[in-house]
Amino acid sequence: MGIFYDCHLHSSFSADSETPAEAMIQRAISIGLSGMCFTEHLDTDCPPEGPDFCLDLPAYFEKLSALRERFRDVIDIRIGLEFGIQPQCTELLPALVAQYPFDFIIASQHFIDGRDPYYPSFFEGTCEETCYIRYFDEIRENLDRYSDFDTLGHLDYIVRYGPNRNREYTYRRYADHIDPILHRLIDRGKCLELNTGGLKYGLGEPNPCREILKRYHDLGGELITVGSDAHAPEHIAYDFATAETILKEIGFRYYTVFRERKAKQLPL
Ligand SMILES: [Zn+2]
Ligand SMILES: [Zn+2]
Repeated sequence: MGIFYDCHLHSSFSADSETPAEAMIQRAISIGLSGMCFTEHLDTDCPPEGPDFCLDLPAYFEKLSALRERFRDVIDIRIGLEFGIQPQCTELLPALVAQYPFDFIIASQHFIDGRDPYYPSFFEGTCEETCYIRYFDEIRENLDRYSDFDTLGHLDYIVRYGPNRNREYTYRRYADHIDPILHRLIDRGKCLELNTGGLKYGLGEPNPCREILKRYHDLGGELITVGSDAHAPEHIAYDFATAETILKEIGFRYYTVFRERKAKQLPL
C-alpha cells in the first residue's frame, strides 16, 4: 500500500507560506496522492517577535470549498486547521472551530510561555534541557485544558530549533515529561501525528522521533495521522516512504484520515 493522504499542509492562507492553494493541489495530483488536507495556521495571541498567524476563516473556507468542488473528480481535498495551543487561548478555540464544518483539527504547541522557540533568542541564557522540559510540560498542561482536536501535531517540534537540535536528545532523557502526554492522547482517543518535517529539517527523525512513536504504540496507541507540514509544493508528501517504513517497523498497520471530524483507518 503506502501513504496517499497528506494531512498537514499549508498555503498562502498561512502567514508563513506564499504558495497559492491551487499550486499545492496541482503538485499533490502530479505525485499521485489520493487526498490532501489543508491545515492552515491559526495561532491567537502570537509573540511579538514573529508574524501574526491569524487566519481569515471566511475567505479560507470559501476558497477551499470551491477548490474541493473543482477538483473533486481528481483528488480528495479536505479542509482543516492547525491550532496553536496556549494556556490563555484554549477557551477560544472550540467556538472558532464550530464556525465551519472542518474536516480535521491539529493541535500544535508552537509557543512556550508566550515566546517562540523558532528564534535563537529563545534559548539565550537558559539551558536547552530546561526549555525542552518546559515545552513538553506545557503540552501536557494544554491537553488538560483543551480537547476539541483530532491529532497532536509534531510532538517534539522544539528539537528542530534548540542549539544542539536533537544531538543530545532522546526519548529516554525526557520520558517522565513525554509519557504523560502519550497517556492523555490514548485515554482520550486522540491521534498522534507523524510529521515528516523533522526529516526535511535534517534531524534524521520525524517529529516525534521513532522512539516516541514506538512508546505510543507500546502503551496501546493505535491512531496515527501523517503529514509533511509542507509550506511549498516540493515538500508535499516529503519522505512518506520513510514514514511508512518507520510505522510498519513499529507495528502500526493503519494510518488515520479525517472527514468532518470522523476518523477513518487506511492500510499502510
Ligand atoms: Zn506547526
Ligand atoms: Zn504546520
